[in-house]
Amino acid sequence: MSRVYNFSAGPSMLPEEVLKKAAAEMLDYEGSGQSVMEMSHRSKIYDSIIKGAESLLRELMNIPDNYKVLFLQGGASTQFAAIPLNFLNGSGKADYVITGQWAKKAFAEAQKYGEVKAVASSADKTFSYIPKLNKADFTPDADYFYICMNNTIYGTVYHELPDTGDVPLIADISSCFLSEPLDVSKFGMVYGGAQKNVAPAGLTICIIREDLLGKARDITPTMLNYQIHADNNSLYNTPPCYTIYICKLVLEWLKENGGLEAMKERNVKKAKLLYDFLDNSKMFRGTVVPEDRSLMNVPFVTDSDELNAKFVKEAEAAGLINLKGHRTVGGMRASIYNAMPYEGVQKLVDFMAAFEKANS
Ligand SMILES: *Cc1c(COP(=O)(O)O)cnc(C)c1O
Repeated sequence: MSRVYNFSAGPSMLPEEVLKKAAAEMLDYEGSGQSVMEMSHRSKIYDSIIKGAESLLRELMNIPDNYKVLFLQGGASTQFAAIPLNFLNGSGKADYVITGQWAKKAFAEAQKYGEVKAVASSADKTFSYIPKLNKADFTPDADYFYICMNNTIYGTVYHELPDTGDVPLIADISSCFLSEPLDVSKFGMVYGGAQKNVAPAGLTICIIREDLLGKARDITPTMLNYQIHADNNSLYNTPPCYTIYICKLVLEWLKENGGLEAMKERNVKKAKLLYDFLDNSKMFRGTVVPEDRSLMNVPFVTDSDELNAKFVKEAEAAGLINLKGHRTVGGMRASIYNAMPYEGVQKLVDFMAAFEKANS
């Protein structure tokens, strides 16, 4: 068996230990005589899986007791509508910062439901930086303030959160979920699709401060009403059972490997290896301003489309796959989430060095 290093933005690599454990438990989960895929989501044994996943997540992220954890479906994209439907319920106003495609999509969706304002944008330079925010531009009576914390496509991250005072801050953390410690108490809600850093596709995790719940608009579809899911402990309807199970295995793996502090240390080390190479290369360069660089997604280019294409093709042949950048940036992007080992990034950097030598 030969496994590749997968640099995809998502779905992405899972820890090998997790895949092995899932394989070993495939036919008979803990003596139940069945696979987790076959179980009733209302059975006692499944209850221990979903409750176990929630309590591990609470422990690892240090989630305060006044926050609900919801395991939902529909991807991060469904929350783009659910957020205004659930929270745009006071002044009907909200502020958004436009730092890339995902923030833009969330903003466009919210525009259908209220008076939403783009308080800043980095579209002028292809989202290669996090815009400086001016508090004077914020809407004082906004129902919430929305950011996309880590911009998967462009490789930027907020190293400092906007100070929104009493206005609840809502963040899409899809591509930095569990990559480092996060102070959940600073947010009204954080959420993300699991397929980047937490589990396979099919699961969206929402962490919501309780006092924000219960005020959804009357027209809110039942399945988009966070209160309904909170009241039913994420079992209002059939949840993505198997994905939640894999999520639990990933959380166990995180805990066994030192939790989020240790994960941050690993991720900083991996990212530094790649950024240092980019900063010293004469052929490759990163596309993001150094102060806003993401630990998780690293876009880079050469000055030639032809060389970029050649690089992606040859890297794939060497077992380094999915390095093609997003069409709006071009070039390459290496997503180096939690499950990407240091050796994978080392192999990429070695390959880049050899490619540079051979092609200059
Ligand atoms: C991938 C991604 C999304 C979209 O997620 P889906 O689960 O496919 O809807 C949204 N936001 C960010 C930051 C992402 O990385």
